[in-house]
Amino acid sequence: MVLPPQALALTRTRLVHRDIIWAPWRMRYVGTPDEERPPGCVFCELPAQEDDPAAYILHRGRLAYVMMNLHPYNNGHLMIVPYSHVASLPAVEADAAAEMIELTRLSQQVVQEAMRPHGFNIGMNQGRAAGAGIDQHLHMHLVPRWVGDTNFMPVLGDTRVMPQHLDETFDLLRKGFPG
Ligand SMILES: [Zn+2]
Repeated sequence: MVLPPQALALTRTRLVHRDIIWAPWRMRYVGTPDEERPPGCVFCELPAQEDDPAAYILHRGRLAYVMMNLHPYNNGHLMIVPYSHVASLPAVEADAAAEMIELTRLSQQVVQEAMRPHGFNIGMNQGRAAGAGIDQHLHMHLVPRWVGDTNFMPVLGDTRVMPQHLDETFDLLRKGFPG
């Protein structure tokens, strides 16, 4: 297939952008082989690590976990992720889907308490066409919003400057989750 030059340029830009985005993760998680997990799936790899703070995992449930998005749309942007490597909501086990909702409720409470946002965006992007950065492993986004932060929510990885460092936010939020 021959792509028009514009399409090639766009593809190249996205690939380069994604490489930059994922570089810190790679550096942090290189050297932990695990034959069980699908190669290259960060949502499978992160909970397989021993060190939750290093993985920015805030809380582990039985079938799903809560982590910070390292390239957040907004400060306090969390993700609720099933341990199962499934791509869509119908594909995830009912118990895991229910726990994702429970953990989303818990996460919203924790963020509300700790950061006092004025609103939330909560949702799942499924498929590249819908803006999923990682489209092979389902995840729920929870994004706190403040009046005046902006009305435009970028779909692709357009990282903003965060007013608080990720580690500070991690420490702040982790206190709110049950031990
Ligand atoms: Zn996965």
